[in-house]
Amino acid sequence: MSHLMNNYSRLPIAFARGQGSNLYDENDKRYLDALAGIAVNTLGHGHPRLVKALSDQIARLIHTSNLYVVREQEALSDRLAALSAMDEVFFCNSGCEANEAAIKLARLYGHRKGVESPAIIVMEHAFHGRTLATLSATGNRKVQAGFEPLVAGFVRVPFDDLAAIETVATHNANVVAVLFEPIQGEGGINIAHQDYLRGLRRICDEKGWLFMVDEVQCGIGRTGRWFAHQHAGIKPDVMTLAKGLGSGVPVGACLAAGAAKGVFGPGNHGSTFGGNPLACVAALTTLDVIEEDGLMQRAAKLGQSIRAGFARELAAMAGVVEIRGDGLMIGIELDRPCGDLVMRAINAGLVINVTADKVIRLLPPLIFSDADADELVTGLSALIKEFLAG
Ligand SMILES: *Cc1c(COP(=O)(O)O)cnc(C)c1O
Repeated sequence: MSHLMNNYSRLPIAFARGQGSNLYDENDKRYLDALAGIAVNTLGHGHPRLVKALSDQIARLIHTSNLYVVREQEALSDRLAALSAMDEVFFCNSGCEANEAAIKLARLYGHRKGVESPAIIVMEHAFHGRTLATLSATGNRKVQAGFEPLVAGFVRVPFDDLAAIETVATHNANVVAVLFEPIQGEGGINIAHQDYLRGLRRICDEKGWLFMVDEVQCGIGRTGRWFAHQHAGIKPDVMTLAKGLGSGVPVGACLAAGAAKGVFGPGNHGSTFGGNPLACVAALTTLDVIEEDGLMQRAAKLGQSIRAGFARELAAMAGVVEIRGDGLMIGIELDRPCGDLVMRAINAGLVINVTADKVIRLLPPLIFSDADADELVTGLSALIKEFLAG
């Protein structure tokens, strides 16, 4: 019995500890973690570098306030700016907060340009969070239903469709920004073509729109680059981060460059917890370990071999629609709803996820080993074959 609100449909399992890519339940049964708390535990569980850095920081100082200078925040902003070529950073505690900051920034940018009712283009099947503004930006009716009236000022278009953007560009003078995920996570691991990103960048330049990427799920090394948009060789005006940034310690960020730089001034936005010393040290350590241990390059290579492994095992099977992904962001789409697979996997000692009803989603920690990858491909392929056989 507990007094929790009933807003999640939880699986009947509680993890008691973790080590590397493994989780252990209350009976000490082992599970291979191919989800990393939904792309959060970048360094897996109990990483010695992170444990040491966090323990030291907790003993020194956990929180002061944004009333004062926070050195760790300055250091993290410098680090993120160097990795992304962005100019400035606002810190918060989650993905939806990072996107709220981006949405507020775009509206303020619009008003400063004299657009009285600024609009932001968003995509079908997008996920940007569950606050009122971000659920309104999200392209999933299930997330929005019952919470009307939605926040106004969003124009929805199909994902990865440049012609749809061109149409809005000729008909809607209120647009001031585009917000989208280079790879849609909750929407089913849908990857935007690089030509699309480059074309969209060009339209944003022509129209004076802010190009805003939500890299909350696909960022932080997961696709083999620090940020997924970098594959297309373009630079956004706004980028949002969270999930994997702190390896499990809540931290989010909204980065700005170009026309988006300098839009926020004192009093325009804030967060009590945002960018506290503990969160910033978690992020700095995560970025250090990714770089020093070559985890990005590893994510690219390992992702390729995992997808090849699933293709070998499953590609010929009726019922398997597509195996896709980039780096350690992997989707296996089936021709039928497959939510049941999650509990079957738990019983078999595998932690996976199903999203968009029919897409098995894998987001393993970046420290996943070759042996972990083999265990995942062998174990999950067997479960999928059994599931499809009825
Ligand atoms: C998870 C997610 C969010 C929301 O992050 P929260 O930390 O849950 O608020 C926003 N955008 C994307 C792309 C996400 O995957």
